[in-house]
Amino acid sequence: MSRIPFIVGNWKMYKNASSAMELCDQLRTGIRTAGDREVGVAPPLALLPLVQQRLENSRIRVGGQNVHPQAEGAFTGEVSAEMLASVGCSFVIIGHSERRQHFNEGDSFLGAKLLAAFRAQLDPIFCLGETLQERESGATEGVIRRQLDKALASLTPPQASRIIVAYEPVWAIGTGRTATPETAQQVHHLIREYFRGLCGIEGANRLRILYGGSVKPDNVDGLMAQPDIDGTLVGGASLNAADFARIVDYRT
Ligand code: PEP
Repeated sequence: MSRIPFIVGNWKMYKNASSAMELCDQLRTGIRTAGDREVGVAPPLALLPLVQQRLENSRIRVGGQNVHPQAEGAFTGEVSAEMLASVGCSFVIIGHSERRQHFNEGDSFLGAKLLAAFRAQLDPIFCLGETLQERESGATEGVIRRQLDKALASLTPPQASRIIVAYEPVWAIGTGRTATPETAQQVHHLIREYFRGLCGIEGANRLRILYGGSVKPDNVDGLMAQPDIDGTLVGGASLNAADFARIVDYRT
């Protein structure tokens, strides 16, 4: 089954109104995708409406970096899936390791966020991955399974097969140390096998699994050549239009 690759830029807490507009303009002219791949950017919350407007009628999707499980309420500083959808977002990143690490977000809470994304018709990109210590102690597989078990516990199998997974080894994020294509492929294969058990062969074959962790123009081709890597989640390199355009334009 062929899966449409999805290349997503996570701008994290970078850019302001004017530098974000400039980046949007550069992306509009720099990214020349054929219809065979999807592209998205996840700007900081405050910049979402501006970026959405600036990218209107382009092929670049806009998404949020985070979401709260509730539709509305007294949760100062938070944003709901419905609010993201109302400003034109079509996807949302859930469970980024920086949210897990700095804001103590655990897998069960992240599961509630996945349900919120479905409620508002957003595609959730669910991030998971092991730390360096976990990898070195041989715990990678157990960690990935535990993260999936807990976050997917309240989803039905059809819902589970509609999420987008991003495998982001924590030791590779923002470090310049990327997983080799073979190492990433091993974990992607394991994730697909997990979903095969959960949703059957068709659901598992439909599932898009992105890789994230120091993806750059010079390593994207090797990663995207792997059979179970269906796109990339890009942090640092997505802040530079030429680098991001080259990543989108990966060649296998
Ligand atoms: C990320 O923010 O999800 C990420 C992978 O960052 P970087 O590409 O900078 O490692």
